[in-house]
Amino acid sequence: MAKDTQFVSQIADIERDFPQWYTDVVLKTKLVDYGPVKGTMVIRPYGYAIWENIQRELDARFRETGCENAYFPLLIPMSYMTKEAEHVEGFAPEVAVVTHAGGEKLAEPLCIRPTSETIIGSMYSKWIQSYRDLPVVMNQWCNVMRWEKTTRPFLRTSEFLWQEGHSVHASEEEAMARTLQMLRVYEEFARDCLSMPVLTGRKTEKEKFAGAVATFGMEAMMHDGKSLQAGTTHYLGQNFSKSFDIRFLDSDGSLKYGYTTSFGVSTRLIGAIIMTHGDQRGLVLPPVVAPVQAVIVPIASKKEGVTEACRALKERLARTGIRVKLDDSDNSPGWKFNEWEMKGVPVRIELGPRDLEGGKMLVCRRDTLEKSEIFLDAAEEGISALLKQIAVQMYEAAAARMRKRIVGAQTAEQLLNGVNGGNFVRAGWCGCRECEDKVKEFAQATARVLAEENDAQTCVVCGKKAAHTVIFARAY
Ligand code: ZN
Repeated sequence: MAKDTQFVSQIADIERDFPQWYTDVVLKTKLVDYGPVKGTMVIRPYGYAIWENIQRELDARFRETGCENAYFPLLIPMSYMTKEAEHVEGFAPEVAVVTHAGGEKLAEPLCIRPTSETIIGSMYSKWIQSYRDLPVVMNQWCNVMRWEKTTRPFLRTSEFLWQEGHSVHASEEEAMARTLQMLRVYEEFARDCLSMPVLTGRKTEKEKFAGAVATFGMEAMMHDGKSLQAGTTHYLGQNFSKSFDIRFLDSDGSLKYGYTTSFGVSTRLIGAIIMTHGDQRGLVLPPVVAPVQAVIVPIASKKEGVTEACRALKERLARTGIRVKLDDSDNSPGWKFNEWEMKGVPVRIELGPRDLEGGKMLVCRRDTLEKSEIFLDAAEEGISALLKQIAVQMYEAAAARMRKRIVGAQTAEQLLNGVNGGNFVRAGWCGCRECEDKVKEFAQATARVLAEENDAQTCVVCGKKAAHTVIFARAY
């Protein structure tokens, strides 16, 4: 036990200093390291494996909706960025620009993509002629760069990885339907793969994407009660099609502008996983995206048959598609328990001479730390079922925590008390920018999403009739 305490103390107290806890966890579990250029991060193999699992799961879901992958260039002519007025205004301060290359000054500066609506729009303009070419739905997995002043690994870095989907449709209805469809894809992915409950809804004018007609977001509640925007989908109307001349000849013979959308999630999701599920011992990874789903720790490995039995078990589990690791290093079992707990591996299997005698193995769940026994004969089914159960129960536990921490407010004071207490606050809003700005001033909270139904009577700030019910929270 002494060793256990000593080890845990290496991570800052999750309740007292959550920001330091986060930094300790991402560095000590080797998810990430700082890059040499301020604001950049190196995603280490253990972190990148989570991203690869996210990619695999999401990519399959995108394809099911008829979305295809492509790749567009990193560099965007400066003139493209300035074509859509709101868009350029929104991004100008964050854009990194290449002015020199090949030993000379470039005739036109080039932007490093902060997002690719402009360059993809210019290509769509070339490729789309007829209504028969529509809809076009493409996605790219890539890096983007947004020069940020304050940065934190996964949450906000100048360069990050993401996917950006871009579609063009013949009608407003179809484009809006795609925008909402992708929001649902994200929400279900968060539930089924990240065991992460989210709130989804439309963003206010203030919070929407620069250049969008409407932005929809999914927001997740972190351990400290702050919100993290974990994904967004945008209905862009004809803003980009007019700026980039995306026109098509419709079936009635008339030339029309297309309606476009875009949608994206990023490596921020890894930050969301860490801060949704993590505890004092470190990471708690959802089984579907965990790089290692089960780790086998041999007990009394020098005793006859133990190492062989562990290897055989590993083979069997791997063959059924479980991502399994055998820790046969010469560290003590206690050290290994701590290490793999910190790294958030969903299931630990202990196998020693006594277990072998009984034909069983001891299994410990990372999420609840509960121990149970599974017959070795039924290892494959037993571990598979346990992983599924953990995924569901992690979701349910997180959803229960979130539900408990969504509180209502009738007055500004109640709103402030709510966010101070680490809650999301559900409150009425008249719809004016002034009141939204005031909430930011007095509570440092922002409108995360508009609730689907407006059940509030009055605005929490000015007391006038509520046009919307809003989820307010402090946010990452
Ligand atoms: Zn108001």
